[in-house]
Amino acid sequence: MLNPWRSELSLILLALLIGAFLGKLFHHPWLSIWVVVLVYLAHHLIHANRLLEWLRGGKASKLPQSTGIWEEIFYLIFRLRRRNRRRKKQLIRMLERFRTATAALPDATVVLSAGDEIDWFNDAAGRLLGLRRGDIGQKIGNLIRYPKFNHYLAHANYDATVDIPSPANANLQLDIRIVPYGEDLRLLVAQDVTQLRFMERVRTDFVANVSHELRTPLTVIRGYIETLVDNAGQIPEPQARMLLRIEEQTLRMQSLIDDLLTLTRLESTTHPLPKQRVAVPQLLQAIVEEAQELAVDAKPEIALSLETNSGLLGSEQELRSAFSNLVHNAMKYCRAGDRVTVRWRPLGSGVQLDVSDTGPGIAPEFIPRLTERFYRVDAGRGPGGTGLGLAIVKHVMARHGAEFRISSELGRGSTFSCLFPGHRTNVDAHAHTDETAG
Ligand code: ADP
Repeated sequence: MLNPWRSELSLILLALLIGAFLGKLFHHPWLSIWVVVLVYLAHHLIHANRLLEWLRGGKASKLPQSTGIWEEIFYLIFRLRRRNRRRKKQLIRMLERFRTATAALPDATVVLSAGDEIDWFNDAAGRLLGLRRGDIGQKIGNLIRYPKFNHYLAHANYDATVDIPSPANANLQLDIRIVPYGEDLRLLVAQDVTQLRFMERVRTDFVANVSHELRTPLTVIRGYIETLVDNAGQIPEPQARMLLRIEEQTLRMQSLIDDLLTLTRLESTTHPLPKQRVAVPQLLQAIVEEAQELAVDAKPEIALSLETNSGLLGSEQELRSAFSNLVHNAMKYCRAGDRVTVRWRPLGSGVQLDVSDTGPGIAPEFIPRLTERFYRVDAGRGPGGTGLGLAIVKHVMARHGAEFRISSELGRGSTFSCLFPGHRTNVDAHAHTDETAG
C-alpha cells in the first residue's frame, strides 16, 4: 500500500487550490478557504462515523471502503480484529482440549472458588465423589460430610492428604489432596486408593501373622538351647562353642520378630495412640540403669542429665521402646572410653531428648537412610542388630507429633534428638536438674 499520508497531503493541496480558485472567482478568498476547510472536516467526520458503525456492527458488518489515511486505519483495525478472532479460536480449542483431558483423568478433579464453592468438576469426580451438574456453586463441605475432610478443608495444611471413604460408594477408599493455585483458588484431587490400602493391609497382616507364628517355635528352640548351654560342661569344647553361636542367633531372631511385631502394631492405623501420663525422668532413669547393667565388658560411660521434671502424654510402652532403642544403640556402637549422654531438657514450648555419644559417628550420606526398615550401615561388620530400631523410633515420634533428628560426624560421635511439642508435655516444665553419672 502507498504511503497514506502522501495521498492525504495531495487531497489537502487539491482542496486548498480549489479554495484559492473559488476565492479568486467570487472575490472572497477567506470565505472560500473556510468552506473548503469545513468540507474537509465533514469528510473526516463522515469517516469517523463509518468507523464507529463498523466497530459497533461486530463481526458481520463489512469492511468500509475508503482512500488515504482512512483506508489504512480501516485495514489495520480489520487485521487486528482478524488476529484477535484467530487467537480466541485457538484459546477455545486449547481450553476444550484441556477440559477433555481433565475429564478423562482417572482422578476426581474439582475446581473450588475462594469460598469453597464448586466451579467445575470432571467425570471422575461425579463417579468417586457423587457430584452432579446441579452441585455447581454449592459448598464442597456441604456435599462431602466427613469431619476429617471438613477439618482438612478448614485448616489448610495442604502438604498432607486425607483418607476418607467415597461418599458415592462406601467400598471405595479415597485419598484427597487440595492444591492451592492462583489467587485464593483451589483444586481438589481425589485418588481411588482402595487397592493400595488393601495391599498395605495384606502386607502388614502377613508380616504380623508370620512373626506371630514364628514366635512360639522359636521360644521352644531357645528353651532347649538354654538348657543345653547350661549343661555345656558335659559336652566337648567345639560343640559347646557351636551351641553358644546358636543361642546368639536365636536371640537375634527373637529380637527381629519382636521388632517386626512392634513396627506392624505402630503402622496399623486402627491402633490409636493412648494418652497415658508418662513420667519420662523415671523412665529414662530405668533405661539408663538397664543399659549400664547390660554393657558388660568394654563399657562406655553413660550420664543422665534431667533438666526438667516434665513428662509426656502418650504411650508409655512405645516411648520406652523408642528411648531404649536410642540408648542401647549408643551403648552398642561405642567403645570403652567413649561417653554417652542422655539429656532431657525444656526447649521452646516443648521438651527434647538428646542421646549423644562420642562413638564412631555416621557418614553424612547414610544419615537420611538410617530410619528405613532393615537399613544398617556396614551391615557385615560391627555389633549385629535388626536394622529396625530407628524405624521404630521414627514411627513412635511421628505418632507423638515429635520431630526426630539425627546429627553425626564420622569419628566424633552422634546425637539423636526427639523434640516433643508443648501440647504433648504433661507436668509443668520448671527446670529441675538432677545428674546421674555411671
Ligand atoms: P540396628 O539394629 O542395626 O542398630 P537401627 O535401626 O537401630 O538398627 O540403626 C540403624 C543403623 O544406624 C545401625 O546399623 C548403625 O549403623 C547406625 N547407628 C545407630 N545408632 C548409632 C550410633 N549411636 N552410633 C553410630 N551408628 C549408629
